[in-house]
Amino acid sequence: MKVAAVCGGVGGARFVRGVVDVVEPRDVTVVGNVGDDLEVLGMHVSPDLDSVLYALAGLSDEQRGWGRADETWAALGTVAALGGETWFLLGDRDLGVHLVRTQALRDGEPLSAVTRRLAERLGVETALLPATDDRLRTFVATPAGEFPFQEWFVARGHRDEVDGIRFDGADAARPAPGVLEAIAGADLILLAPSNPYVSLGPILAVAEIRAALERRTVPCVAVSPLIGGRAVKGPADRMLTRLAGGTSPRQVAGCYAGLIDALVVDESDAHDLGGLGDVRPVVTRTLMRDADARRRLAEAALGAVRA
Ligand code: GDP
Ligand code: CA
Repeated sequence: MKVAAVCGGVGGARFVRGVVDVVEPRDVTVVGNVGDDLEVLGMHVSPDLDSVLYALAGLSDEQRGWGRADETWAALGTVAALGGETWFLLGDRDLGVHLVRTQALRDGEPLSAVTRRLAERLGVETALLPATDDRLRTFVATPAGEFPFQEWFVARGHRDEVDGIRFDGADAARPAPGVLEAIAGADLILLAPSNPYVSLGPILAVAEIRAALERRTVPCVAVSPLIGGRAVKGPADRMLTRLAGGTSPRQVAGCYAGLIDALVVDESDAHDLGGLGDVRPVVTRTLMRDADARRRLAEAALGAVRA
């Protein structure tokens, strides 16, 4: 069975780790978010691609929930001592990846090609594709003004309420090589439990990707990132409340109107399954606290359309 998984950062990365436990890793293609990418200290950082890369390579720091295990912070300490930019935390091991990526991009290599090379070097068999090789950046409109995504998310601690989201460059962005093929060749499409607005939104804003999902001939299953109407981490619940009017499964499904056939929701949200229309609810425990839980959630998502 071939699977295409559309995926953001940490929530998405946890989920795809479960998916490759139950499906042959080579048969999975991950389409990742680049709307969060940024230039920091002269380097091109792709936080969401790297979350997936580290997860699939077994290099993630599971306690901290982001970045690499056994990380050290000597370089950032030097940056701080020299009065450089330190708002975006970059560990030493992580920095090595950004150095190689940045040089490759400056030499004209597309992001998809350098991402493939990094994945191969780290022994990852699953294909990891950026949604696009073109410049696509998320901006967040708030009562305090519009901010580039990471300025709002990291520097301002995503405290400002969100009134709207803009994906700069999305109109001109083309899918990266392999993305449309992965969607067209999949037996099943999965939308990871990622933030619908700022993690999957930028991917779905690429018109050809959205169109490919709309005209799919195979099932597409989304997993809700909410448990009991609350995000496990991050601002997804606040964004849904303000932008969609609530945090029930129907508001999550509403973010994917026309794109999904089933929505996997947590048991704690099972009392509130109205308004889903054609979208079939699948109720299970969705907290991915360990490898077993990740695998069970992946099995539920894969099984959502078998029954
Ligand atoms: P980011 O780009 O690093 O913010 O990552 P994502 O957008 O991929 O993931 C963030 C989302 O993952 C949040 O909305 C969380 O609620 C969700 N999430 C994280 N862990 C879990 C989990 O164990 N279960 C579920 N259902 N969602 C989770
Ligand atoms: Ca992200």
